[in-house]
Amino acid sequence: MQCPYCRSRETVWRGWRYNMKGKTRMRLCSKCRRKFTPGSFRRMRYPEHLILKAVSLYKREKSSSKVQRRLKADGVKVSRWTIIKWSRKFG
Ligand SMILES: [Zn+2]
Repeated sequence: MQCPYCRSRETVWRGWRYNMKGKTRMRLCSKCRRKFTPGSFRRMRYPEHLILKAVSLYKREKSSSKVQRRLKADGVKVSRWTIIKWSRKFG
């Protein structure tokens, strides 16, 4: 994952940031030592905590239809393909 400040690819996961929407993983750039939240989350139409939940469920269940049903029970409609895409991107 690329640092938005210096464009370095030497970044590592470093802790969580908590806000109204839930918690967000922070990344630390090894080059410029600045912290950032991966921007790819922000462009999505689903909240970050939902994406993270779907990804962790998918890792455990190994079935996108099971994850889809779990999210549907929470009142969230997500396609199975979207769940697979998330898990590839953030898993
Ligand atoms: Zn940097």
